Amino acid sequence: MTVTAGVVAVQGDVSEHAVAIERAAASHGEEAEVREIRQSGIVPECDLLLLPGGESTTISRLLRREGIAPEIQAHVEAGKPVLATCAGLIVLSVDANDDRVETLDLVDATVERNAFGRQKDSFEAPLSVAGLDDPFHAVFIRAPLIESVGEAAVLAEWDGRPVAVRDGPVVGTSFHPELTDDARLHDLAFFGAD
Ligand code: GLN
Repeated sequence: MTVTAGVVAVQGDVSEHAVAIERAAASHGEEAEVREIRQSGIVPECDLLLLPGGESTTISRLLRREGIAPEIQAHVEAGKPVLATCAGLIVLSVDANDDRVETLDLVDATVERNAFGRQKDSFEAPLSVAGLDDPFHAVFIRAPLIESVGEAAVLAEWDGRPVAVRDGPVVGTSFHPELTDDARLHDLAFFGAD
């Protein structure tokens, strides 16, 4: 079977997500046809969506301007899966504590941009993730802090703080699972959904 995977490509690290979803699909004997999303009309054709990292201010502005934001909301309302990483998670949250980010209110969590502090702008850590047997090597780059979670379930914590959450069909991570060769997070988000 072929799944149509849409990667929001208005800005951010797109190709790494394309590789990861292809790998995750292959491990299930499926193929992923990757579509890059820069304008409206593509999201409704996608089985699953990826929102990459980048700059949440820019991404949220372009998603609104291009009319992609309501399509993503309809995708989630239809119960179709999404993986949102770093800036992607910020954009899907209910509040990013920053007026420049118009959030889509799809993950019941509030976030604080760039909250891990300058000296820790980037770091890597082994994480225990609910649903994965072995630790996941997580790469954090100017990562958001997940301040509070409402209905969302916490999948992983670092230093006592949530860094991966699931809200219905959406999995959001503060880190970048697409930057390693390990596609288990993509697998969990898209093929391991309960
Ligand atoms: N700091 C970025 C933001 O606030 C997110 C960083 C990232 O996606 N790696 O939008």
